[in-house]
Amino acid sequence: MTIQWFPGHMTKARRQIEDKLKLIDVVIELLDARIPLSSRNPMVDEILKGKPRMVLLNKHDLADPVVTAEWVRYFADQGLQALPIDAASGTQVKEILPRAKALWAHKIESQLRKGINPRAIRALIVGIPNVGKSTLINQLAGKKIAATGDKPGVTKGQQWIKVGTEMDLLDTPGILWPKFEDQMVGLRLAATGAIKEEILHLDEVAFFSIKYMVQHYGTALQERFGIAEMPDDLDDPNQIVSVMEAIGRKRGAIVSGGKVDLDKASLIIIRDLRAGKLGRISLEKPTDY
Ligand code: GDP
Repeated sequence: MTIQWFPGHMTKARRQIEDKLKLIDVVIELLDARIPLSSRNPMVDEILKGKPRMVLLNKHDLADPVVTAEWVRYFADQGLQALPIDAASGTQVKEILPRAKALWAHKIESQLRKGINPRAIRALIVGIPNVGKSTLINQLAGKKIAATGDKPGVTKGQQWIKVGTEMDLLDTPGILWPKFEDQMVGLRLAATGAIKEEILHLDEVAFFSIKYMVQHYGTALQERFGIAEMPDDLDDPNQIVSVMEAIGRKRGAIVSGGKVDLDKASLIIIRDLRAGKLGRISLEKPTDY
């Protein structure tokens, strides 16, 4: 699903999250492990206003584990615990409750001191579209609850989902917008599938992806597509296009006259990358900043 974000949508999305925040104790901020900062809302700190928060790096099954470990350290340096998870298979999802309890421990202890029986922790999942919010809600609920891809502005009655006896989760996530004004961010979002291909030029997204992979994942690229000659100058766009053409030729993306159909080649590259066919690849590192 693609949401065209206009200022009015952002205001509405923000207001909806602020309404939900009144009900909850702990925020679960979902990011894409392959592009943690590019998949993060630029105003998230301001919107969440100091609510106890954990960061989950989702789709870790598709991300480079070495780079993800660097991101975990990056967030730790900012005082945020980041947990790599794979919401689709449920990997590490069981770790969420203990982390939520740790974030809320001070409150539980003070309730106990006052002789009050602590109630279940109330949690809300927030994140940009397609980051896996609905998948995670279903995984935590142990059944299919959330309609994947719900839109901001569509309201329905709030319901709580029981995650065991110790946590209640709001059944509709908070939907945030990405920081797509920055061209590099837009390209990363498109390459991972957070923005659908029709919004950006396919060849630009494929060009960006190939350039990044030549730089960081050359072997995976060569192995997947049997590229004989790899660029030696990343700043020479012709060399990157040559790689795209070699992939097109290899995969039969040819138009009449024997020329490579660059759009078709681009689609092949992006689909393979998103599906993890090139292995586990991250498209952003803390050292990029
Ligand atoms: P939402 O818009 O944030 O609610 O995102 P969805 O839950 O609808 O997920 C978007 C897409 O990402 C779906 O195709 C999911 O199957 C996929 N997805 C979600 N979590 C994971 C994950 O951990 N790994 C992988 N590989 N795919 C995931």
